[in-house]
Amino acid sequence: MEKILFKYIDVPDQYEIDTYIKNGGYRALPKALKEYSPNDLIEMVKKSGLRGRGGAGFPAGLKWGFVPKDSPNPKFLLCNADEGEPGTFKDRWLIEKDPHQLIEGIIISSYAIGAHRAFIYIRGEFAFGAERLKNAISEAYQKGYLGRNILGSGFDLDLEVYRGGGAYICGEETSLMESIEGNRGNPRLKPPFPASVGLYKNPTVINNVETLSNVPHIVLNGALWYAKIGMPKSTGTKIFSLSGHVNRPGNYELPMGTPLRELIYDHGGGIKDERELKAVIPGGVSTPVLTSQLVNVKMDFESLFEAGSLLGSGAVIVMDETTCMVKVAYRLSRFYEHESCGKCVPCREGTRWIRMIMARIENGKGREEDIDLLLDICTNIAGKTVCPMGDAAVVPIMSTIQKFREEYEYHIKNKKCMVDLGTRFV
Ligand code: SF4
Repeated sequence: MEKILFKYIDVPDQYEIDTYIKNGGYRALPKALKEYSPNDLIEMVKKSGLRGRGGAGFPAGLKWGFVPKDSPNPKFLLCNADEGEPGTFKDRWLIEKDPHQLIEGIIISSYAIGAHRAFIYIRGEFAFGAERLKNAISEAYQKGYLGRNILGSGFDLDLEVYRGGGAYICGEETSLMESIEGNRGNPRLKPPFPASVGLYKNPTVINNVETLSNVPHIVLNGALWYAKIGMPKSTGTKIFSLSGHVNRPGNYELPMGTPLRELIYDHGGGIKDERELKAVIPGGVSTPVLTSQLVNVKMDFESLFEAGSLLGSGAVIVMDETTCMVKVAYRLSRFYEHESCGKCVPCREGTRWIRMIMARIENGKGREEDIDLLLDICTNIAGKTVCPMGDAAVVPIMSTIQKFREEYEYHIKNKKCMVDLGTRFV
């Protein structure tokens, strides 16, 4: 299938505005401004079936439709480029290699929701990406795609880049807004939702980089064209960030519903050193691990949910037979403890307890009752926290215990790992 977002990703100077225009860029913007009302665009994106690519998969057009049209307050569009989910590296590519595709998507989306101010919140570590975006934004201003009276339409938009400080939690939309406001990146309780009370208490839409990059293509080719790609309820393509024990790791843009097997073996070149596949984390480390028996699962929102996991951000982490699942869970428990913002007790204290118990199991000091203790702590975190990070933090523990309990038991009983070859995962 022809690529959509990655069509020109390998053109060396695609990040420059003249090359982007030469390759068909900035054609959707005048079309959107001249031929469609903001409401038409919202309906178009709804009909396309485009769902958020940041992890939650919420329908983008529906989200836009929640912004109150009669609100006298200014509206904001925020692009979430705080790509911090371990295993995910697709937004970084879209930003560094084709920034104008994203900027064009932001301008059209801002017009659709009535925003005259937009921000790209980019994670602090992406210094190169931030520079590239700033240069691209400056080029867009010079050509009249940003600023006052864009292309004579009467629509104004200012866009700026805001660099985060490197906290995972700022990828959560309410902490992202707190961070832009200059506050500590702690999540807010919801409701109210950002569509009505968002940045500076004004109506705000937050969309992921990949989501917004799809918008110009939907405007140019139509909602039905997009809806026909992929699966009925998971339309379009998805960029999968493939990593771990595969021969050809990288970003692959494929139609939604592509089998996991095809991604790993055809595109990723199969498992390294001809070892056996053991497990896959299919959508970033906050999604439950799959065993190798599920290698034929289709990679879309519904199919992965039915298989007991989630599509998440599309970060596919492949683990071969030499991987110790206890060590994987221990490593991830350290990540979540470190990234807990500390606002609520179950997450702040629970992630620390999980890490401590995982450390003793991993180091041969585990007790028989530790597995049930871990599960008990997990159930006292899940669903009881301010933001979804509490739920995410328990996923690696609960899913590895559920699918690989014998490895935990072996560690505790024999005080060592049952995987003789050790692990190359951490
Ligand atoms: Fe902070 Fe964790 Fe509570 Fe989220 S769940 S608000 S990250 S302490």
